[in-house]
Amino acid sequence: MPDRQIYLLSPRELSPETIAVAFAKTSRSPESFREIAAGLTEEKSAQFHEKWVVGYGHASVAEHAVLHIAFENVSRLAIESIESNRLASYTEKSTRYQKWGTDNFFVPTELGNHPLRDEFIETCRLLFRTYNDSLNPVRTLILKRVQRRENESDEAMDRRLRSQYVDVCRFLLPAASLANVGMTANARVLENVIRKMLSHELAEVREIGEQVKAVAKSEIPTLVKYADVVPYLVETNKELDGYVNRKTKNENRESGIGNRKSEIGNRKLNDFCVLVDYDKDGETKVLAATLYRFGEMTYADALNHVKSLNESQRVQLADTLLGRLEEHDIPLRELEYATYAFDLVMDQGAYAEFKRHRMMTQTPQMLTTRLGYAVPRLITEAGFGSEYEAAMKAAAEMCEKLDEFDPRVAQYVVPNGYYRRVLAQFNLREAYHFCQLRGASNAHFSIRKIAHRIHDELARVHPALTKFMHLPDETWQEVEEKYFVD
Ligand SMILES: Cc1cc2nc3c(=O)[nH]c(=O)nc-3n(C[C@H](O)[C@H](O)[C@H](O)COP(=O)(O)OP(=O)(O)OC[C@H]3O[C@@H](n4cnc5c(N)ncnc54)[C@H](O)[C@@H]3O)c2cc1C
Repeated sequence: MPDRQIYLLSPRELSPETIAVAFAKTSRSPESFREIAAGLTEEKSAQFHEKWVVGYGHASVAEHAVLHIAFENVSRLAIESIESNRLASYTEKSTRYQKWGTDNFFVPTELGNHPLRDEFIETCRLLFRTYNDSLNPVRTLILKRVQRRENESDEAMDRRLRSQYVDVCRFLLPAASLANVGMTANARVLENVIRKMLSHELAEVREIGEQVKAVAKSEIPTLVKYADVVPYLVETNKELDGYVNRKTKNENRESGIGNRKSEIGNRKLNDFCVLVDYDKDGETKVLAATLYRFGEMTYADALNHVKSLNESQRVQLADTLLGRLEEHDIPLRELEYATYAFDLVMDQGAYAEFKRHRMMTQTPQMLTTRLGYAVPRLITEAGFGSEYEAAMKAAAEMCEKLDEFDPRVAQYVVPNGYYRRVLAQFNLREAYHFCQLRGASNAHFSIRKIAHRIHDELARVHPALTKFMHLPDETWQEVEEKYFVD
């Protein structure tokens, strides 16, 4: 029996395209990976990719070529499109642990020499100034309420409490704020990233797409060579954009401008978390799939068996499936057979975190100021409420002016505190992960509220399978009451 061999094909010795070919060739070659790699040159690898990946569409081969791409000083609005690629990994500058300087914002290319450009810059400056001015009053208030630890220096105390005041002040930062993000992705994903970016409505994203393509070409020249604008995306987006009822948008505008809780916002925010669809038989399906996995019966038989169980037998089966879960354990894959769809409204700061949950299917609406904005309680308690409200109102007025010019560009000026609507669909396994991670006491209060509320909705419809989630003893109403002004 040949010896088992497990080893690295090191990116220090082989290019990403060569590694991908070395793996791909195992499909037809009896040689070891080392032997295959030793026989490859970059030229031969490029020819292989031209023939198989590009020519015959065997695109999965490109997944073995992995790149790490650094993006610096890109707007948080552009980051949304960078991070919209499910099969990649990201780490981004945090609005919870870092502060922003007053000129750290992107000026949309589209504005060129348009008269609105100066107004845009002025409004962003006002937002950043108000953000910076808010840090100290909120920090001082927190310091008054928190005990210094024994021998704790000012710096150590500030480090410990920074996230608390930054968490509150971040509501003022607009989507134009610049940030850095690191992305790890394989060449197949990257090709799609570039195609989507080059086809994007925002000039900044298209420019970033060109730069990503240039950077990727230096490492994986063949695999991104044909990444180009996708007419399907460009034309379809344009046509659907025009299809949307302008009248509704106009009505929303009239009732929404710059109000903390616009009429449209209030009406719709009454329920910020609506379970719009779910699988009524979800629990039965999950339990049946579990029996199927460990048995030899058909799925229909497994389903009939679960349906024949009485309540306590079902509860017992659920307990067997999930009862041993500890906080960081991932439940069995069979939880993916129950799905849920939610129509959610959350502030933009929460959305920036929500969008990172790649396993979900998410459809956010464009960022506007028409649903009104949240007011963190500490802002008003620090005596900063009127400055906050004035800055939010200025942002809304600017947003409406920009909307006439181009609604996509208008998004840049919208601060994190404004509400945004997003449709999200996910399965019970992802629900476990999301609710536990984002409902935890160290999560930001905005997303904690969403996580608790989603948990409540799930528990209402599927109590047997949700009761094993590890969530702190807190309700979404308590989060709302503690952290937000009514
Ligand atoms: C306390 C805290 C601090 C954070 N700080 C930052 C920060 O400073 N900057 C920042 O950018 N983000 C930060 N995040 C966000 C974090 O990095 C995640 O992106 C985010 O929580 C989404 O979680 P996820 O990747 O586990 O979830 P999902 O994308 O929802 O994935 C669900 C699960 O699927 C699996 N999975 C999904 N994709 C992969 C993959 N590619 N490889 C392996 N397994 C995968 C994992 O088990 C994962 O938990 C922070 C999160 C927390 C909780």
